[in-house]
Amino acid sequence: MASNYFEGAVKTEEGLQFKGFTLQTIADKCNGCDRIAEFEGEKYCMSYPEPARKWAHGACNFATHVKASVDKAGKVKINPLKASKRAARNR
Ligand code: SF4
Repeated sequence: MASNYFEGAVKTEEGLQFKGFTLQTIADKCNGCDRIAEFEGEKYCMSYPEPARKWAHGACNFATHVKASVDKAGKVKINPLKASKRAARNR
């Protein structure tokens, strides 16, 4: 996890002000993603200012820890990457 990525950012009531963006803290489902960086004890995404919105419809397409796929019924399935690698090995 990058620790000084958000250097120079400013916390405000609306969120973290950084390079012209207002960032919200990460969503629960972001945990484990490599794009998370910490600022003053809170976690933010380096790729997307509103992580919760990335997860509102299926899975975040920037996520490094899970991969989303759509099954035959059109339902979004979220696979942790390590588990899917394990499954591929046992095939
Ligand atoms: S890239 Fe997506 S999953 Fe990763 S921290 Fe950002 S919003 Fe969350």
